[in-house]
Amino acid sequence: MEIELLAYTPHPEGVVYNAARLCYSSKGIRELIREEGASPKRLIEQIKASGHHSVLEHASFTFGVEGISRVTTHQLVRHRVASYSQKSQRYVAERDFQYITPPSIEKKEEACVIFHKVMEVCRDAYHQLLEIGISKEDARYLLPSCCETKIIVTMNARELLHFFSLRCCRRAQWEIRNVAKEMLFLCRRVAPVIFYDAGPPCLKGPCPEGPFSCGQTEEVREEFSWSR
Ligand SMILES: Cc1cc2nc3c(=O)[nH]c(=O)nc-3n(C[C@H](O)[C@H](O)[C@H](O)COP(=O)(O)OP(=O)(O)OC[C@H]3O[C@@H](n4cnc5c(N)ncnc54)[C@H](O)[C@@H]3O)c2cc1C
Repeated sequence: MEIELLAYTPHPEGVVYNAARLCYSSKGIRELIREEGASPKRLIEQIKASGHHSVLEHASFTFGVEGISRVTTHQLVRHRVASYSQKSQRYVAERDFQYITPPSIEKKEEACVIFHKVMEVCRDAYHQLLEIGISKEDARYLLPSCCETKIIVTMNARELLHFFSLRCCRRAQWEIRNVAKEMLFLCRRVAPVIFYDAGPPCLKGPCPEGPFSCGQTEEVREEFSWSR
């Protein structure tokens, strides 16, 4: 898996900070931006705590994600407040498709044999369909969901905080969790104040998952201590 932060709003925290100050000031925008205000850190923390989250929407982040499965992009694109561009299986032939093998299968020899055998069968069948004139858009119906794909994703900071709270949680599947953790790592480098406490809800309080809780709050807090 490879994830790159391709672009982001310049000075994301400055933009969010000024948007928040504007809401509480009678000054003109130019004047407001020129003058020093309260500390950005304090104000951004305040707006996050108060629920005035719309100001976080002024900062956007665009990621290039490669080497993940379509299982995971299917989960990713359920997040609606975002923009996506994904490699098309209608237009791009998947003759030599690569695929993601889950670690649970990888470490069990017997499971590996079954899994890789089926991949070979899929590859062969896909080739054969193209050979006999079936279009790529129809031949792809037999491709497995573990097929490797690439996708460009843009989310604003508000959506990213929501995304990280759901997908960095141990209830999320391992692959999307890895994606979310890497995205959080990249966001933290360029907007540490906004993303200071981003991650699963148990970083900030009790786990809200009730009977579905992983029961590993301490380990999760330790796991995310790098991000704080
Ligand atoms: C652990 C886990 C298990 C899951 N299991 C399943 C499953 O079994 N089956 C399944 O179908 N999905 C499943 N999902 C996906 C889940 O139901 C959501 O579709 C996905 O997490 C997107 O999150 P979201 O809807 O909160 O927010 P996003 O689409 O990211 O939107 C952000 C927020 O905007 C608001 N919003 C967006 N659109 C609307 C709208 N139309 N109306 C009102 N408010 C809106 C909501 O407040 C929402 O929380 C699972 C997700 C997780 C994390």
